[in-house]
This record gives sequence, structure tokens and C-alpha cells, in this order.
Amino acid sequence: LLSVRGLHKSFGALHVLKGVDLAVRSGEVAFLIGPSGGGKSTLIRCINFLETPSSGEITFDGRPLCHEDGRIFHLAPERVLRAARSEMPMVFQHFNLFSHRTVLENVIEGPIMVKRRPRAEAIADAERLLREVGLHDKSDFYPDQLSGGQKQRVAIARALAMRPKLILFDEPTSALDPELVAGILDTIRALADRGMTLVVVSHEMAFARKLADVVHFIADGTIMESGPPDRIFDNPQNPRLSGFIRSIL
Ligand code: ATP
Ligand code: MG
Repeated sequence: LLSVRGLHKSFGALHVLKGVDLAVRSGEVAFLIGPSGGGKSTLIRCINFLETPSSGEITFDGRPLCHEDGRIFHLAPERVLRAARSEMPMVFQHFNLFSHRTVLENVIEGPIMVKRRPRAEAIADAERLLREVGLHDKSDFYPDQLSGGQKQRVAIARALAMRPKLILFDEPTSALDPELVAGILDTIRALADRGMTLVVVSHEMAFARKLADVVHFIADGTIMESGPPDRIFDNPQNPRLSGFIRSIL
């Protein structure tokens, strides 16, 4: 479904991604782990073009979003990037909801503005999704009136409202109080059980071990090791990965 090859990203003189190769199959749950500053967020932000890569190739659902031709770096037209972004929405650590809009308005915004779906249909869809994430009674609340866990459920419902092919999660539980984490992890697990393709940046190692089909260890802007969770956690090959695992246990 998603293929990344030789991806580089620099911010000015700072070379953050140094040739990342990553493939995600349809229905796969991929976790990205690694030390702070290693480039995990930058990678998933480049995947859906919240950041523009500096060079390399990204193909999503059969469409090239960027590629190299000789030495020239080509980006797909903005309308193609926008469509791809709506098919792989991102759920952020800090929710990124529109604070002056209600829960329902947050969820219907994308379908109406980006997908051009009729308002009544978008509302019916949003109500169903809010019920699914346990927030049917909060449609008319504003984000400020919700707990962190509830805000994150709104963000997940908003992602689902785009009828995504893949959802990108960037540390979806790290801004939550401990007692709210399990509920969000359950919601993510339910998506995985339904066969949704997920790319999850997370420090929840027990969760990664249970849910991941594959875990990628990212440090210094490259994927240093990839594999099934048992191998990554129990039998790491790369010394940086063994060190990282020792440091978090
Ligand atoms: P964490 O686990 O702490 O979230 P991360 O693996 O997600 O870390 P990134 O956020 O991708 O790491 O950051 C990688 C490097 O890129 C860091 O050195 C960071 O300072 C730098 N960086 C990220 N975004 C920008 C930006 N917009 N401008 C300049 N530098 C940036
Ligand atoms: Mg990050």
C-alpha cells in the first residue's frame, strides 16, 4: 500500500532523514520505535506531506507522490498530494482539534471540505463514528470541555471520517493521563482488528509487542532494524537497538 525509498529530509543544514526505506502492506500494523530526535515524526510527516521530503520516493496506493528522475526531484501535483493526505490522515499527540468548533463540526469538516460529501451524509457518518468511539453524547461539546482521552477519540473519529486507507499515529497516548491510555490503545486495537492499515509511532512497548505485525527501529535518521515484535524485543541484532531496549525496560 505504501512504499518509501531512499527518503531524505533536511531542515536547513540539519540532515534528519538519511535514506529511509519502508514498505507497508495493506492491513499491516507497523510500529516505529526509537530514541527521541531519531526522525520518527519527521518520517510520518513526510509520508503524508505535512513536510516536503528533500529527496527520495514515496508511492501510495499505486500513485507516485514524489520520485527522482535522474537527479531531479519531482513532487506530484498538489491535488494528488491532498487526496493522498486525506486517505492517510494523521492522529497527533496533541489532538490538533479545531478549538472553536464542536466535536461534530470537527469530524465533518474534512469530509465536507476535502471530500465534497453532502453535509447530511457527513453528519450521519460522523454520528455513527462518534458512537463507535463512545462519544455519541458529546457531539455538541467543544474540545475544551473534553478529557484528553475523549479529545483523542474525536481525533480518531475525524481520521475515520475520511474513509482512510491508512492511519498514521504519532504518539497518540503520550499526552494522556495514565488512566486514559488503555482506552485509546483499545480503540487503536479495534481498528487493527478490523483490518485497518496502521503506522504507529509509540513508546508503548507492551502494546507494540502485542499489536504490531512489524516493528521498525529508527535512530539517526535511518531504519536500523525491522522485524516481527518478538525478534525486535527478544533478539535484537543491532547494538543501538539492544541499547534502546535495555534503556526502556
Ligand atoms: P521524539 O521521540 O522526541 O518525538 P522523533 O524521532 O519524532 O523524536 P523528530 O521530531 O522527527 O524526532 O525530529 C528529528 C530531528 O529533526 C530533531 O533533531 C529535530 O530537532 C529536527 N526537526 C524536526 N522538525 C523540525 C523542523 N520543523 N525544523 C527544524 N528541525 C526539525
Ligand atoms: Mg516525534
